[in-house]
Amino acid sequence: MSEQLLKKVRHEFTAIYNYEPTGVWSAPGRVNLIGEHTDYNEGFVFPFAINRSTFATISLRADNLIRVASSFSPVTHEIDVRNIQKSEENQWAAYPFGVAWAIQQMSDVQATGFDCFIESDVPVGAGLSSSAAIECAVGVALNELWNAGLTKPQLAKAGQLAENEIVGAPTGIMDQSASLLGKKDHGVFLDCQSLEAEVVELGFAKAGLELLIIDTKVAHRHADGGYASRRAACELGAKTMGVPSLRYLTSADLHKAQELLDDVTFRRVRHVVTENERVLKTVERLKEQGPKSIGDLMYASHQSMRDDFEISVDELDEAVKIAEGFGAIGARMTGGGFGGAAIALVPSELIDQMTVAIKYAFKQGGFIEPNIFAVTAADGAARV
Ligand code: ADP
Ligand code: MG
Repeated sequence: MSEQLLKKVRHEFTAIYNYEPTGVWSAPGRVNLIGEHTDYNEGFVFPFAINRSTFATISLRADNLIRVASSFSPVTHEIDVRNIQKSEENQWAAYPFGVAWAIQQMSDVQATGFDCFIESDVPVGAGLSSSAAIECAVGVALNELWNAGLTKPQLAKAGQLAENEIVGAPTGIMDQSASLLGKKDHGVFLDCQSLEAEVVELGFAKAGLELLIIDTKVAHRHADGGYASRRAACELGAKTMGVPSLRYLTSADLHKAQELLDDVTFRRVRHVVTENERVLKTVERLKEQGPKSIGDLMYASHQSMRDDFEISVDELDEAVKIAEGFGAIGARMTGGGFGGAAIALVPSELIDQMTVAIKYAFKQGGFIEPNIFAVTAADGAARV
């Protein structure tokens, strides 16, 4: 798939701009193995970069003009490199424009304009962070071409800045960190407080396991209001418990939390506290016992999101239930919730059977046909 994309992206660049591009850079999407709604509570997450990537073909120009096009919409969007601002008119080009802006904010480069074409096989809106993939592909490209000298963690920050300030989405730094720091068959264990990252071996391939993505295609229903109210509950919980963030609580504090908090706030807090502990345990078990030992943590994570954090939907619960019934090691919804995808850690020989079973169950349940595919943990963003 990627070889083909690479050829195509060069060809398309030349077709649009009438000259050969300087180079191609790519950045992967990511999936979160465990650690949901822990990022904004200064906790832990454990995503990995996947074998689906966004390719950015870029050549610098001698003037200040930026032109970007994508296989999504071959119409070029244009802007002056010295005058990048948030605007409705930017549409999807807000991502590459935003990164060009952020790198200028974070370094003292003499930025010039550039021509860019983007192609991707990261599905959009499936919880695999096509947005981070586009930010990081453009980020590593401009960092090299402009000689900006930013480190990978700084480029992750640039991607986040672009998304927050120029796209206008209040997102964290997990996705960009995974896309930049990812390593083949490894996960990126990230402390969202210190931003320290450690790559930890997953060992899926060696154990004969694959990670199945079940994209329910359910649009994130009530996602905005749901997200805001979950954040508010976490803040209230931390404040009432007298800590700067829920990161500072452990299971030992839950008894006191139950006495002090109303039922809903308590359950929100319990999810975050136990989820942080599950991330730490997942990393520990991978190191000591290998991937077959993390299944119960994945199931417990799903249950906690379903019952305590209340961000699951019927389609996600069904996918997890069928996966478990058909012999998955572990399964859980992944991403912010209210729709999106579930993941299942599955022995390779069960993949086909499980895929058929989930599709059948969805049909019986009157759900939309899900998109189901396996991913592996891949290397992070780089020049191709
Ligand atoms: P995701 O969960 O996939 O990150 P987002 O809503 O955060 O979903 O980001 C998706 C948006 O990123 C798209 O609507 C589009 O604006 C932009 N995007 C992602 N991939 C591409 C691409 N290949 N070409 C153009 N825009 C893209
Ligand atoms: Mg995104």
